[in-house]
Amino acid sequence: MRRLITVKQKLLSLLCVSLTLLIASYYIVRTIRKNRKQEAHAQIAASSKELKPFVVVGGSAAGTAAIKTLLAKKCPNPIVWIAAQAEPPYNMTLLPSFITDNKRFRGMRIAGTKMPDGVDYKFSTAITKLDPTRNELILSSGEHITYSKLLLATGIRYELALGHKHLVSKGVFAYGSFADGQAIKKFMRQHAVKDIVIVGAGIRGLKLAQALSNAQYTVNVIEKASTILPRYLDQDGARFVTEHPTSWTLHTAATIKKVQLRGGLINEVTLSSGTKIACQLIIYATAGIINTDFIRHTSILRHNNAIIVDKYLRSSINTIYAAGDNCMINADYTYKCHGWQEAQHQGIIAATNMLGQYKAYHEDCAYHTLTLGTTSIVMAGHTHQTPTAWQRIVYQDKSYYHLFVVHNDRLKGFCLLGFYKSFDVMRLRRAIGKQAPINEALLESCHKSVIASIISSFSMVKNKRGR
Ligand SMILES: Cc1cc2nc3c(=O)[nH]c(=O)nc-3n(C[C@H](O)[C@H](O)[C@H](O)COP(=O)(O)OP(=O)(O)OC[C@H]3O[C@@H](n4cnc5c(N)ncnc54)[C@H](O)[C@@H]3O)c2cc1C
Repeated sequence: MRRLITVKQKLLSLLCVSLTLLIASYYIVRTIRKNRKQEAHAQIAASSKELKPFVVVGGSAAGTAAIKTLLAKKCPNPIVWIAAQAEPPYNMTLLPSFITDNKRFRGMRIAGTKMPDGVDYKFSTAITKLDPTRNELILSSGEHITYSKLLLATGIRYELALGHKHLVSKGVFAYGSFADGQAIKKFMRQHAVKDIVIVGAGIRGLKLAQALSNAQYTVNVIEKASTILPRYLDQDGARFVTEHPTSWTLHTAATIKKVQLRGGLINEVTLSSGTKIACQLIIYATAGIINTDFIRHTSILRHNNAIIVDKYLRSSINTIYAAGDNCMINADYTYKCHGWQEAQHQGIIAATNMLGQYKAYHEDCAYHTLTLGTTSIVMAGHTHQTPTAWQRIVYQDKSYYHLFVVHNDRLKGFCLLGFYKSFDVMRLRRAIGKQAPINEALLESCHKSVIASIISSFSMVKNKRGR
């Protein structure tokens, strides 16, 4: 019996020893692994410190999308983000809702954007000079930054004409930034504004006019050109829109000739036609200036200040990319304002290519939707001032104006005014992006009343070519 107990004790102590050894070896292996991991992290951190940064300049649609992409794709280089504006990124397309306190307005911040970790921010800082020969940027703070790759997403600035700058406190505002929106809103509240003049019948001006008139303000829109949306619509399209009722008044081929003050504030404007309009506020939504002054002295290729980029959004200098409103794809030489979505799309593509993953940008798929009065407007790609060799196919009746721009059986652009609900707009957009041949399957997605005529037009075009 005693012997049995001794064997049992020995077995137990053996078990204890082996268990202790097992636990000890587990902890030793764990510590070794942890140390190795820490060493590896330290090595990566040290090597990434040695790597020169990827620098993104611009804190709006294109710049923000590029930063998100660099982080999501685990950019090995340090990332520096520079923007002239003081605020974090805002979605400018929401500015009319902010100004008019729209019930559905949920804030100006770009959805899903919080200032990410792992990025060196330099906001309220402009770049004043770029030296591509030394891969160096000079900032307004005097700091010099050397980059490995650079993305210029500096967009457009909207300023008041020199002659109107002294009228700012009296009720004249530019319409180009969140700060402008805040100033306009404050002025409207302080001075109980009721009548507003908007200068410029482009997309920005008309969206604001619609929002303000929906909010019961009296709005007059002044446009220098003979039609509205002069960059997007041809004469017939513009006429179709203006023939339909809107809740604001349009004055085309008109400019402001005289501004009348009363009690130190705007009271009335006189147009070139002699028409007088009572107003307490004038908002300039006119064309802007491309922010590329800091590369003027460099050899980077530009056209009318826009940076010329290839389909990978690379400028004429290999390490420098551009995206958004400040660039022009290839030497197309018809400058197009891309809009919010396109700027975001280009930011993603440019960042992807900075990381060495070649991704082409399918150009000219800028897309806009807006509703003016009772008329819906959907536009994508090339819609106006297209080359003469391109086919413009128009279907029109009282309730719609549908334009398809086609070249070599490829859809280049479309413009759907009025009734458009049964069009598969996304599919048409993809057709422009992919530049796939137009076929009946695509057209089947179009409205039944126009499908037959579209197909017959295409076959007419083909027959003409075949002859
Ligand atoms: C009021 C308003 C309403 C709009 N509404 C619509 C709409 O409804 N639909 C639509 O599609 N588009 C709309 N747009 C146009 C759309 O906002 C632009 O197409 C889009 O913002 C372009 O983005 P981006 O990143 O190229 O440049 P931008 O938005 O112009 O941003 C440029 C960025 O670069 C920074 N920057 C400029 N110069 C320097 C410098 N030297 N150094 C450092 N940083 C610099 C600026 O601070 C800014 O952060 C609107 C624009 C405005 C102003």
